[in-house]
Amino acid sequence: MRLIDSHAHMTSRTTSDYREMRRSGIECVIEPSFWSGSDKMYPESFFDYFEHIIDFETERAERIAGMDHYVTVSINPKEAVDREMSEAVIDRLPEYLERDRVVGVGEIGFNLQTDEEEWAFREQLRLAEEHEQPVIIHLPHTEKPKGAVRTVDIIEEMDVTQERIIIDHNEPGTMETTAATDCWLGFTLYPGKISIEEVMPLLEEYGTDKRIINSSADWDDSNPLAVPEARDAMIDAGWERDTVRKLLFENPMEFFSQSPNFDYARTVAAESSANETVTTTEGQ
Ligand SMILES: [Zn+2]
Repeated sequence: MRLIDSHAHMTSRTTSDYREMRRSGIECVIEPSFWSGSDKMYPESFFDYFEHIIDFETERAERIAGMDHYVTVSINPKEAVDREMSEAVIDRLPEYLERDRVVGVGEIGFNLQTDEEEWAFREQLRLAEEHEQPVIIHLPHTEKPKGAVRTVDIIEEMDVTQERIIIDHNEPGTMETTAATDCWLGFTLYPGKISIEEVMPLLEEYGTDKRIINSSADWDDSNPLAVPEARDAMIDAGWERDTVRKLLFENPMEFFSQSPNFDYARTVAAESSANETVTTTEGQ
């Protein structure tokens, strides 16, 4: 079963992680812009970072692991502490949204739920709407249920296209709030946060339409193989393969296909029509 990991912070992954992910079935990764591990001190540092993930990581993923790599760009909630810096970065985001390999705005949202974070969140949400690009929203790890309410209030108040938004890092305490929207919902599997065993009952309760499972392979304890391990755990638990494929492949495919820059969708479509041709020829 081919897999997509829609929330993998690849600058923090080693070469062998990439290869293991590919060997485990992950053909395509989406890398949301992330905190660099130390705070960036200048707006220009963001632009160097964007260049790095757009060009270098895409080339690296392909070269070392045959993996198709895409990015989303943003000033991450953890970095949106200084209004002046946020303004300088957001001013230039439009030019990055036009670049090959850029399939959305993100992650955006709340970290400590400050006014500065809210300002950057709203500005970037507006920008994504103008450019008709998908959005990855990060739910905060502290005071998460409250953060989910505040996030959804802003989305509704701004009247942006909910079908182009994924609200990521859901947990039991956020579901009632987020499942009431038309947004896509992400379950991010990482140690100490939520496991696939905890996600399965939520999928049973809230359904599998517009739901996506991903990994957040990042700086702290995190598992680059969370998505393939989720596939195995769900199949072992008796889930239909079609449902597992939908959650781990077709749903992220459908969501990111809303970006004109998501070439992977075209690659897969071309492959399946080539296969059909072969089948037809063989049948004659
Ligand atoms: Zn996040």
